[in-house]
Amino acid sequence: MKILVLNAGSSSIKFQLLLMDKNESIASGLIEQIGQPSGHAELKANGQKYERNQEIKDHHVGLAIMSELLKESGVLNSLTELDGIGHRVVHGGESFKSSAVVTAEVIKKIEDNIPLAPLHNPGALAGIKAAMSESGDIPHVVVFDTVFHQTMPEEAYRYAIPYDVAVKHHVRRYGFHGTSHQYVSQQAAKFLGIQNDKFNAITLHLGNGASVSAIKNGKSVDTSMGLSPLEGLIMGTRSGDIDPAVITYLIAQGEITADQIDNFLNKKSGLLGICGTNDMRDIGERVEKGDKQATLAFDMFCYRLKKYIGAYYAVVGKLDAIIFTGGIGENDQAMREKVCGELAHFGIKIDSAKNRDRSNRGDRCLDADGATIKTLVIPTNEELMIASEVVRLTK
Ligand code: ADP
Repeated sequence: MKILVLNAGSSSIKFQLLLMDKNESIASGLIEQIGQPSGHAELKANGQKYERNQEIKDHHVGLAIMSELLKESGVLNSLTELDGIGHRVVHGGESFKSSAVVTAEVIKKIEDNIPLAPLHNPGALAGIKAAMSESGDIPHVVVFDTVFHQTMPEEAYRYAIPYDVAVKHHVRRYGFHGTSHQYVSQQAAKFLGIQNDKFNAITLHLGNGASVSAIKNGKSVDTSMGLSPLEGLIMGTRSGDIDPAVITYLIAQGEITADQIDNFLNKKSGLLGICGTNDMRDIGERVEKGDKQATLAFDMFCYRLKKYIGAYYAVVGKLDAIIFTGGIGENDQAMREKVCGELAHFGIKIDSAKNRDRSNRGDRCLDADGATIKTLVIPTNEELMIASEVVRLTK
């Protein structure tokens, strides 16, 4: 089966073509600067790169170019040959408890959720509508970043604000990166030979955006991101947890205005705000040279992570594994060494050589002798998870 996965934003579309019989990606690409005079599209397939530099007026034009590039590379003659298209949508609100085959009603519900994700859902909708008109009769499936966390109990997802206000405005913890948390926890259960519905874990998705999830019996029971992806861990440019009074205080001091709050917390804070860069590789190099600010950023990142692991250990109870994933989780051995080293009293114990071994990029266990909680690295694969959802809902 050939499944195309689309991740559309307001001005870009990432795509990947997967052969599901082999669980393998055969082409991937990016359409950028949609709506600007200087658009760019590229596709990688068969070890080659295919490109276009031209104006890309809207998502329709973007997908028509993607289609041309797929044809030019020889991997797909027409979108109508596909067995289905999977769309990543950030926010499913309270309306979606699972992925769904796209219908007019599903589109309406995603539109209704726009106020919860004003920066993300409109782009995704533009992608869905364009793809539906460019691909004939094939099925389309939407997969939400929030759905995996819909199993959280109410005591975990509520904020302690007046209850009627919370209910009226759908204010609650939703959580994000659900596709990744689900993929790596299922994959880890398989790797360890534990039945998924008996598997307890803490999944650590650490990329530019970062979140932790508590997984009990294969289900998400808590997660660090909330109403939006701002809450929780320290991220590349996002503050994560913060006392809301900091904001009113900074406004009173004339440091920021109400209009600037979003930008201040989402784009100017986190690792970038602490030490001037949000790239963990640069931070690692600066730490080695003894740079004070970078060391503080690294230590704060690891400390916040350690606190969440401790909190979610308390939530989950008997814990089978902690799982690292995402650009930082999969690659940053110094971060793993520090965080795991400080959790030896939990029974988390990693082997230094296994942790540093860069030759194994696949699913791997980092345990040293005597570890009672497994430490795994599972490279995330959100596209494969989305494509599997298309297969599950359309076969
Ligand atoms: P996104 O959330 O945008 O998908 P990624 O999962 O690709 O991001 O993660 C990006 C982060 O991963 C960046 O902070 C980057 O510095 C970090 N990263 C990538 N490779 C390494 C590495 N070898 N060592 C440390 N950090 C890395």
